[in-house]
Amino acid sequence: MHELAVCQALLGQVISVAAAQAASSVESVTVAAGALSGVEPALLERAWPLAAAGTLAQTARLEIRVSPVRVRCRLCGQETETGPNRLLCAGCGSWQTTVLAGDELMLLSVTLVRPDASQAGEETHV
Ligand SMILES: [Zn+2]
Repeated sequence: MHELAVCQALLGQVISVAAAQAASSVESVTVAAGALSGVEPALLERAWPLAAAGTLAQTARLEIRVSPVRVRCRLCGQETETGPNRLLCAGCGSWQTTVLAGDELMLLSVTLVRPDASQAGEETHV
């Protein structure tokens, strides 16, 4: 399953951040998934506990923010948001566009729990 491999890759990043900050566990993880990334948020959420089992992040909540597709038009030069299936310029309707964003899958932040912290976990941006 593709999503499980994606989760394991994300988890590797999360665990190294948590270890560097001497966290006792991870409270939540926020990920940006572009509409063109090929990642299905629902499947990612389902795969997450499988990948996270037995790690510092096993109780972490996974938050997925789907980011829109942005294209730059080669005809009129505008940068616009568009749908993942069309990639048309919203300005002039041209199909001659270059994808600027929307195919990325990124770890945005993790909220860590420290062994000595009395207050709620703090967010670490990565
Ligand atoms: Zn255009």
